[in-house]
Amino acid sequence: MSELPSQARVVIIGGGVVGVSCAYHLAKAGWTDCLLLEKNELTAGSTWHAAGNVPTFSTSWSIMNMQRYSTELYSNLGAAVDYPMNYNVTGSIRLGHSQERMQEFQRAKGMGLYQGMNIEILELSDIKNIYPFIETHELKGALYDPADGDIDPAQLTQALAKGARQLGVKILRFCPAIGIKKHHDEWEIQTEKGSIRAEIIVNAAGYYAQRVSEWFIPYGGRKIPMVSMSHQYVVSEQVTELQEWTKNSGHKLPLLRDVDSSYYLRQEKHGFNLGPYERNCKPHWCTENDPLPDDFSFQLYPDDLERLEWYVEDAMKRVPLLGKAGISKVINGPIPYTPDGNPLIGPAPGLKNVFEACVFTFGIAQGGGAGKVLAEWITEKSTEWDMWSCDPRRFTDYTDNEYCVKKGMEIYGHEYGMHFPHLRWPAAPDRRLSPIHSKILELGGQMGCYNGWERANWFAKKDDDISMKATQTWKRNGPWEIRVKEECEAVRDHVAVLDLPGFSRYKITGKDASIFLDKLITGSLPKSGRISLSYFSDERGRVLTEMSILRHSENDFTLITAAAAQWHDLAILKNSVQDYADVVVSDISADYSTLIVTGPKSRELLKGLTEGDLSLPWLTHQNTKVNGCSAMLVRVSFAGELGWEIHVINRYLNEIYEKLISLDAKPFGMFALNSLRLEKNYRAWKGDLSTDYSLLEAGLERFIKLDKPVEFVGKPAILREKQQGVNKSFVTLKVDSKKFDAPYMSTLWHNNKIVGETTSGGWGYRVNHSIALGMLSKDLCEPGRKVEVEIYGERCAATVQENKPLWDPENNRIKQ
Ligand SMILES: Cc1cc2nc3c(=O)[nH]c(=O)nc-3n(C[C@H](O)[C@H](O)[C@H](O)COP(=O)(O)OP(=O)(O)OC[C@H]3O[C@@H](n4cnc5c(N)ncnc54)[C@H](O)[C@@H]3O)c2cc1C
Repeated sequence: MSELPSQARVVIIGGGVVGVSCAYHLAKAGWTDCLLLEKNELTAGSTWHAAGNVPTFSTSWSIMNMQRYSTELYSNLGAAVDYPMNYNVTGSIRLGHSQERMQEFQRAKGMGLYQGMNIEILELSDIKNIYPFIETHELKGALYDPADGDIDPAQLTQALAKGARQLGVKILRFCPAIGIKKHHDEWEIQTEKGSIRAEIIVNAAGYYAQRVSEWFIPYGGRKIPMVSMSHQYVVSEQVTELQEWTKNSGHKLPLLRDVDSSYYLRQEKHGFNLGPYERNCKPHWCTENDPLPDDFSFQLYPDDLERLEWYVEDAMKRVPLLGKAGISKVINGPIPYTPDGNPLIGPAPGLKNVFEACVFTFGIAQGGGAGKVLAEWITEKSTEWDMWSCDPRRFTDYTDNEYCVKKGMEIYGHEYGMHFPHLRWPAAPDRRLSPIHSKILELGGQMGCYNGWERANWFAKKDDDISMKATQTWKRNGPWEIRVKEECEAVRDHVAVLDLPGFSRYKITGKDASIFLDKLITGSLPKSGRISLSYFSDERGRVLTEMSILRHSENDFTLITAAAAQWHDLAILKNSVQDYADVVVSDISADYSTLIVTGPKSRELLKGLTEGDLSLPWLTHQNTKVNGCSAMLVRVSFAGELGWEIHVINRYLNEIYEKLISLDAKPFGMFALNSLRLEKNYRAWKGDLSTDYSLLEAGLERFIKLDKPVEFVGKPAILREKQQGVNKSFVTLKVDSKKFDAPYMSTLWHNNKIVGETTSGGWGYRVNHSIALGMLSKDLCEPGRKVEVEIYGERCAATVQENKPLWDPENNRIKQ
């Protein structure tokens, strides 16, 4: 069809695999009034030249879900829409050069098993049986994924387009969107052929996504954080031996990934396709001298084989057969990267009815799942799986061009890198600094990055090993361990101080502020002068977020939440406040600093510094002076000891911190805080608290007030679930593991059956034990029950604990 309609409910900008998959899934969900605009022919962006590999492997639960779903979709799509489809499920072998890599494989195997996949670990001897042309030098083993394969990206896109069209979606090719306008609640999308009005816009413009996002800036949007990298693969000539082997065996070789050398090698007809992610990589279109062209449809960058030399040679040593063939083709195309390498799927920050489905590095593998997720966001306002890993709101305004380029290059060059728990990827540090940043460094602070803010993870002493190499381990212990232990002990026995820049905070004021908030939270609002931990449910009764609410007067509140949640939680408030003309929500995160002062001696220490009333009970706050500076003292402690948070405007921080340190408060860091909170069962956002779980499953019933007069969000669903009962429940486990703590999504076993998963884990230095928080099948939740936790492939005994904190179960220390 070529005529431009005047109106559509949803307009999707971009006809690559992702945009088309969004259209297909929206139509499948019954939203057929959709129009997809493509500036050229479908697939003209990155899709046409993609190698088409479709892995399921990931160490992220949500990405694995998305990729697994894609493979299931692609297996049946050809038949479902009656379109020819070259989808070769060849299986894949991922080679491991180190013990740590084999442990990573074990972890993915456990997650895969939980998702119903049959990932296997191979011994060296097995590898040759499956891949006879391989040399096994320097290898420890491998992972075999039978669901891996490759698909023709153009056919895939056309099949999805056919399916979408059959259901009523309109696809308009050679019709670029050139701008947008807003008319009240309606968007106008401008094209060279005229304008279209739409309720919802989806930005699926691939490597043009940033340019499209710029149109939305006048309406509250932001520039998408991304960079386009140049990515190449090399196709070899045909190899006679491979042809014969394929004929005799009746199938192709499995796809090979030498992840520690950083390339994949795939059989392409009877030759090879070699695709490296090289360290000496090249970003494009990110400087004034190299601007993004207006059109790059079906174009490539010039070949740059020099960059790949090391990888080609390494691959030829690994599979000598490769050396027998010359190069027949080089493909060098743009591949977009966000600063963490995951795509953007979900609501566009700062905007209503605008969604993003773009910046895909693995769009062929993820396109199917991404379409499902995006369609759920639009049609149901929530997704089946928690998709924070891909949520556009995870990047806030610290992601300038320099950051995007440096991070994009780092991720590209370490595409298969291992994400160890204590490792900090070093590129582009120091985006947002605490007013006392240099003091923290002076004290030995080893920094981590939290929503762009630098916070100390731990404090090193003079001869401690602070190299990056020391952090390349899954083990609990390393140079930090003794220091983290000392920091936790100072919190337990004495007094310690943590600088916490970047706490997200919002001010809520106006005549109906309390009515507005009461409708959003599941529990009760605190009284004036008090603080409460409050939960926000979605319509399904699942955990949307957690915020601390401080009430100053009837209609004057401060809400405090995690640094990472800044734009996510702001969106919850801003989206709902539109119905309240008199309520004002403002983000004041950048104006304030926070110190946590905690430990049994904290009252004594603060006594000499403040006129405030230190006898006010737990969960109160007061405006007072600390060290002569105006401050708010809040009596809470995430660390589980007597303690206060000191909130001040930024310029007072330095003096107060210096004073506390001079009075012998010991600096502590985020690693210690994580250990301390685990011992108290305090949940962490987007680990223990996510939309994968309902409030009732997450054990948060005491934060739900079903008899409050207000019909709060999620109440009907919570009531329904309460009647039906939950299938799994939040538990605390003590784990018998000598060297490792349970990472997120480690499987729980009982009688050789998977019965749950961990949501976080770590060592508790006060209780002297490894702890895991997690979700366990309801029938196994009684205290004392023995289960097993699979940690990097090893099943470790674990015991279900009482539904109370492990440390100070009655909260006596906090309340003293
Ligand atoms: C060499 C290479 C090999 C790769 N191999 C693989 C692989 O094996 N497996 C894998 O999963 N991924 C692979 N990728 C990545 C993959 O190609 C991308 O992730 C994927 O194609 C992204 O799809 P998309 O739909 O998001 O973007 P695109 O395919 O870029 O589609 C975006 C579309 O938007 C259109 N558009 C832009 N602006 C406008 C506008 N204003 N109006 C209308 N239309 C507009 C463009 O013309 C384009 O067609 C590879 C990439 C490269 C470079």
